[in-house]
Amino acid sequence: MADCIFCRIVSGEMPAEIVHKDDLVTAFRDVNPQAPTHVLVVPNKHIPALTALGDDERRLVGHIIQTAVKVAESEGLNERGFRVVANCGPEAGQSVDHVHFHLLGGRALGWPPG
Ligand code: 5GP
Ligand code: ZN
Repeated sequence: MADCIFCRIVSGEMPAEIVHKDDLVTAFRDVNPQAPTHVLVVPNKHIPALTALGDDERRLVGHIIQTAVKVAESEGLNERGFRVVANCGPEAGQSVDHVHFHLLGGRALGWPPG
């Protein structure tokens, strides 16, 4: 998807501070961080939203979560805690139509979200 920001980050066409990359996923720091650690973990292939995930993506989704947990560990967040969250659709505030999970940590996080 040539016009997708996250596809362009995955391909290296657009710069980002990448913290992990493998054959399935890429993790990079959010350009507008909402916490001291704010990393986005995305599938390398373009999937527009959680609602577009199929059975074939089960392993991929598991890998995304495990990657977020590993990044949290490398950021020193295991003991203090962290949040992994994905927004889907307009009322959740999804603003980029390429599946992404936010890893947030490094400060006390309010709940429930606004
Ligand atoms: P959403 O609102 O869809 O759940 O999350 C999209 C996130 O992508 C936002 O937190 C936003 O700051 C981040 N974002 C948007 N454009 C870019 C970009 O070009 N580079 C990076 N690193 N993050 C971006
Ligand atoms: Zn994309």
